[in-house]
Amino acid sequence: MSDILNGALSQLKKAARHTNVPDEVLEALNFPKEVLTARISVRMDNGLRRSFEAWRCRYDDTRGPTKGGIRFHPDANFEEVVTLAFWMTFKCAVVNLPYGGGKGAIRVDPGQLSRRELERLSRAYVHAFASMIGPDRDIPAPDVYTNAMIMGWMADEYSSLVGYPCPAVITGKPIPLGGSLGREDATARGGFYVLNNLLAEIGLEDCQRRAVVQGFGNAGAAIATMLHQDGWKVIAVSDTGGCVNDDSGLDPQKLKEAKKKHGSVTGYAKDANGKKIKVMQRDEMFALDCDLLVPAAMEDQISTDNADRIKASVIMELANGPVTSGADDILEKNGVIVIPDILANAGGVTVSYFEWVQNRQGFYWTEEEVQHKLRPIMERESGAVWRLAQKKGITLRTAAYVLGLERIAEAIQAHGTQNYFCP
Ligand code: GLU
Repeated sequence: MSDILNGALSQLKKAARHTNVPDEVLEALNFPKEVLTARISVRMDNGLRRSFEAWRCRYDDTRGPTKGGIRFHPDANFEEVVTLAFWMTFKCAVVNLPYGGGKGAIRVDPGQLSRRELERLSRAYVHAFASMIGPDRDIPAPDVYTNAMIMGWMADEYSSLVGYPCPAVITGKPIPLGGSLGREDATARGGFYVLNNLLAEIGLEDCQRRAVVQGFGNAGAAIATMLHQDGWKVIAVSDTGGCVNDDSGLDPQKLKEAKKKHGSVTGYAKDANGKKIKVMQRDEMFALDCDLLVPAAMEDQISTDNADRIKASVIMELANGPVTSGADDILEKNGVIVIPDILANAGGVTVSYFEWVQNRQGFYWTEEEVQHKLRPIMERESGAVWRLAQKKGITLRTAAYVLGLERIAEAIQAHGTQNYFCP
């Protein structure tokens, strides 16, 4: 078994020690319910046919249809997809959505494809996995390097396969195709609500409000903007092109413009009109003196190699799995509080759930209504995770897993366990 999946399952084992969940329930959660690997062949613009590896995993569906994104990434692989589906299972349970967890991926660098190739690839994915997905079975959404346009193509392809419009098969769609207002920045907004709800508890109420954000995609750019508007100083930001740092604070709007113009946030340094902006590598950025570090890029970024150098007092995981389980132990020892992914970034899937509900009832909400419904969920569940952590003397990550596990276990146990059948 791969390191990434082992790490995820060790989180489950750790949480299980703080519950009375029977072994037969834990055994059921040790491996996925269903995984399909497919080869997707697409005609490229130059006439050549190319084949891509693709996967979809439905990890567990006890609490409802499986839910989770599809990523397009050159490093995507089977174990990663299964692990991400495992995390989705717990994430949906932590925010108490009536969903299980799923995930999908294509091993591809979408930056190398033309728009027409990307459309053909997206539609071919739906063909390959049509028997697995469905509005009552498995509902995909955007993830790394996929977006609303791709979701729109996929929904359209599924609808033409079943013969009627079926927007509820996928979430994160463009608004005119049945997308939900507020979905685009929901991951960041959910994290922002969690952060503000726990601000005093995690000791950030009277801090200097210096934040570092790794990743400037959908989640990273939005959280940098929200923090900046709320009076935080975003002192460093990065993307795949590198990191920029200014201790007096960066302007997220200008970062967006620099990324558009130069292809990377590091272009901010070029456009700084003589202002001293430092350009640095990832680990140097992680070692900056700050109050809040927000990894919003990929998994496995903070590991046993660099965890000791982190000076932030709080890490809020907007990416999935950015802190390895080995790093978790070091951070705990060093007193760094980690707000775990399955709570911090759950705003995305929560608004996906709202989108699915709106599609099914054919009645659409305003952006205010969406936020009005998102906020209490993030506040209620972050409060519950915090209290559980305090009560049991465990980290927020373990507490989030305990909360999720108890909810999943309750559903599995409702069918009866050994105690019921052989009292
Ligand atoms: N890909 C996002 C996540 O990892 C969203 C999933 C969804 O909306 O279903 O949470």
